[in-house]
Amino acid sequence: HNEEAAAKAAASVADTGAPTIFDKIIAKEIPSDIVYEDEHVLAFRDINPQAPVHVLLIPKLRDGLTMLSKAEPKHVEVLGQLLLASKIVAEKEGILEGYRVVINNGAEACQSVYHLHLHVLGGRQMKWPPG
Ligand code: IMP
Repeated sequence: HNEEAAAKAAASVADTGAPTIFDKIIAKEIPSDIVYEDEHVLAFRDINPQAPVHVLLIPKLRDGLTMLSKAEPKHVEVLGQLLLASKIVAEKEGILEGYRVVINNGAEACQSVYHLHLHVLGGRQMKWPPG
């Protein structure tokens, strides 16, 4: 049991390039609460919300974008699509007047899933600096 937990923790602090749980969410093999979807991106509620609104926004095609630091010129279009879609998510969730978009990059920033994702957070007063 402990070994399994340790392996899981180790797997989630390194960018191995292995498939992630988000592939299963994209394939609809596991259920998710979808907020917005188009050809390029998928937005669904975080299973462990840190604010009244906490939506994850991901590219449907990971294409090497396990984390933001892997971004290359070929990703410019999808990076733009993600930022534009974050506005659509905020609009749909009724938080356009104030919301936060976060990308955790790497273990030191607490990234746990290695498929690029934007956190769209809102519905409460945010604090700065973040923890
Ligand atoms: P990270 O820590 O920035 O990598 O964010 C990963 C997020 O994915 C965390 O906030 C998790 O709560 C969330 N998460 C992990 N698995 C699932 C799931 O199956 N459905 C929805 N959210 C998930």
